[in-house]
Order: sequence, then C-alpha cells, then structure tokens
Amino acid sequence: MLVFNILLQKSYNDKAIEEKLLFVQNQCSILGNQILVNKFIIDSLQDNLNVEIDQMANVWEGRILVIDSGYKIVKDTYTIDQGNYIVYDEVLKVMKGEKDRNVRMIDDYAEIIIPIVNADKLVNGVMIATVSLEDIEDTNIYISQQAELLILLFSLFAFAAAFIISGICVRDVKRLNIQINGLNEGHLVDLKVKSRYNEITRLTESFNTLIDKMQVLEDSRQEFVSNVSHELKTPITSMKVLADSLLMQEDVPVEMYREFMSDMAEEIERENKIINDLLTLVKMDKKAAALNIESVNINALLELLLRRIKPIAAKRNIEVVFESFREVVGEIDEVKLSLALSNLIENAVKYNNDGGYVHVSLNADYKFFYIKVQDNGVGIPEECQPQVFERFYRVDKARSRETGGTGLGLAITRNAILMHKGAIKLYSEPGEGTTFTVRVPLKYVK
Ligand code: ADP
Repeated sequence: MLVFNILLQKSYNDKAIEEKLLFVQNQCSILGNQILVNKFIIDSLQDNLNVEIDQMANVWEGRILVIDSGYKIVKDTYTIDQGNYIVYDEVLKVMKGEKDRNVRMIDDYAEIIIPIVNADKLVNGVMIATVSLEDIEDTNIYISQQAELLILLFSLFAFAAAFIISGICVRDVKRLNIQINGLNEGHLVDLKVKSRYNEITRLTESFNTLIDKMQVLEDSRQEFVSNVSHELKTPITSMKVLADSLLMQEDVPVEMYREFMSDMAEEIERENKIINDLLTLVKMDKKAAALNIESVNINALLELLLRRIKPIAAKRNIEVVFESFREVVGEIDEVKLSLALSNLIENAVKYNNDGGYVHVSLNADYKFFYIKVQDNGVGIPEECQPQVFERFYRVDKARSRETGGTGLGLAITRNAILMHKGAIKLYSEPGEGTTFTVRVPLKYVK
C-alpha cells in the first residue's frame, strides 16, 4: 500500500501539473490572439486586455510578461520589468520558433514560455507565465494523509484478521499437542482430532499409524518378555522339584541321588541352551550387528555341517544326502550362516521319522545361491506354518522339548538370512515332509 501510495502521488502530481500547464497555455493563446489584434499596444488606462491579463495572473497566483518581437516587455503584471528588454536563451528559442513551449520548474512555481503566433504561423512575440503549483502540492498532501489513514486502518484490520485466523488454525494443533502429550504419559491410544484442515487430518493419521506400529512393537515386546520368563522358569521349577524331593526324604539311596542329580544337570544344560540361543538372537536383532563378511566356499561349508550331523542321523537310520549343482563361493558371514543352516539341517533330522531322509541341495545363478533342505518327516500343519519363525513357537511342544529344542532355532535362522539380505521359504505337508528354501545374494551389498 505504501508503494501504491507513492506511485499514486507521483502520477497525480505529473498529471495535475501537465493539465495546469495546458490550461495556462490555452489561456495564453487566447490572450496572445487579442494582443496580436491590439498590435502589442497594451494601454493600462483604457484597454480591457490589460485588465484581463492582470485578472488572469491573479487567478493563477502568478505573473504574466508579454514580450514583443523586439524583446521589449510590453506588459508585466508585477509592473517591475515593464519597458525593459529581456533576452535569455529559453525566450530566444521560442521567439525563433525552435520550440513551441518552454517550461521551467522553480520551487512551487512553473514558468512557461509560449509564442504569440499570427495567422501565417509566424512568431510575433512571446508570453512568459509564472504559475503557482501550491494548490497541486496541497492536494498531494491531502491525498497522502488520506492514504496514510487508510494504510493504518487496513493494517489494524489485517493484524486483527491474522490474529483471529491464526488462532482458529492453531486451535487444532493445540488439541493435537495435548493428545500427544497424553501419549508421552504412556497411554498408546489413537489420536482423535477432527479438523477441517487437511494438513492436521493427515498429521493425525500419520501419528495414528505410528502409534499402531508402536503398539504392535510393545505387544511383541511384552509377549517376548513373558515367553522368556516362562521358558527360563521351566527348568528351574523342575530343578526345584527334584531338589525338594531329595531334601524331604531321609536316608536317600545314593542311586536316587545320582539319578536326580543327573536330571538336574540336564535341566541346567537346557537352561544354558535357552540362554545361549537368546543371546544369539539378541545379537542378531541389533541392526548394527556387524557381519564379518568374507568369501566362503559354500559347498565345503555344507559338507562340513552335514558331516557333523551324520552320526546323529545314523543313530536313527536317517539318510543324509548332499547334492551340489556347481561350485559356489559367496560373500557371507561364515559363523552366522553356518548357524542358520545347521538349525535347518538339525530340524530336518529332529522332526524326521526313523529311517527317513534329508536331502540338501546347492545351486546358484549369477546373482544368488540357493540352498534347499528337504525331509520326509512329520511336516508342519498349514495353519502353523506362518508362526514357526516366531520366537519360542513350537508345533509340538513335547517333541521339541524331548529333542532339546528351545523354539528359537528358526527365529535365529531367519534373522541370520535377513541380515545377509536373503530370503527363506517353507513348504510342508503334514506326514509327508518339509522343505526349506534359502536364497542368499552371492555378493554382499551393505
Ligand atoms: P525348536 O527348538 O523347537 O526346534 P525351531 O524354531 O527350530 O524350534 O522350530 C520351531 C518349530 O517348527 C519346531 O518346534 C517344530 O515344531 C517346527 N519345525 C521346524 N523344522 C521342522 C521340520 N523340518 N519338520 C517339521 N517341523 C519342523
């Protein structure tokens, strides 16, 4: 508005001055004609023309000089220079017809030099009219004052409007903030902010998605903690029962001591295994867990794992076969991948029938290597298949316990494979057998 005000004043000023000058010029031309008719004789006593020129100068609050072709001032409304001669550049130029108007600005005045031209367009003399521009300046000041008032009013209005509108906008944000603060106190509930602003609605939705994710994490954390406590308590409870029964009896035979003690040692072993598996899992859960990547011959790795399992399989007459389609060298963390694969192979033996088989195959293309561990054991019912990778999940608790399982093996396997940016899939038919397929990139990319 300030800029607009300055531009408005400037354009008004230019236009008003121009109009005033044009008006003066027109009036002077009319007077000029009369002066021509009177042949520059302007007798102060009788002549109407003289009076008219004086009146005109009064109206403009200025001065009029009439100069004949001999540069003599034949009329000066101030009478000071009457009869004198005037020769200066601007007058000369107009007199010679080089310019049809010459304007000079002097403070609040404008001086305009206009030729007195006869019917043949010849310059017979000039008039110098000095006009006051004060009235224009006054109007300018008036406009400026009005504009300033308007700017002040508009600013007040804009300030009030901004205050009210921002208050309305911020109201929903405040409500959202109060509810988020509620979350900080530990209540994971969805935020309920109904807002007519899309941004706030979207922000609320994003928060709710985040809260849902946090809720899922919290649930799984609680479940994990309760599973861990349960799993760790079971061997301890058994040990306590065994110890109590020994303590309650007097003169316990040595054989019984031995038997109970060996049972207790087994429980301690079991507790130890659970704790070790948990530690492995926790280590792998950490995203930052550094993989110790090196080039490893996968064929040799699998052969080693199978050599270790064969004596256990042989006890139950289970055939273990390794089939390799090509030599594969992959960039892997040998310890972690060995753990993952040995869990799969051990499970294939553990959950097999006596006299069954375990087939392990290795293949590769230009990008990945593929390992398949197939058995014809008990299989996994379809409804249990999605859960077998979860921590502590077992299809048949009794059998798992019997075979010394902790329910953490497949969780460790999956984590290790995911750390290698690989994938694991499971196909199983109860009573028919189970196949796990693993895909791992040949080259590890961070
Ligand atoms: P566990 O220590 O009990 O073996 P895992 O996490 O290794 O735990 O396996 C989870 C469950 O998945 C097992 O308890 C078992 O019921 C089932 N399972 C795993 N591998 C096989 C398999 N090859 N055949 C049948 N069931 C299996």
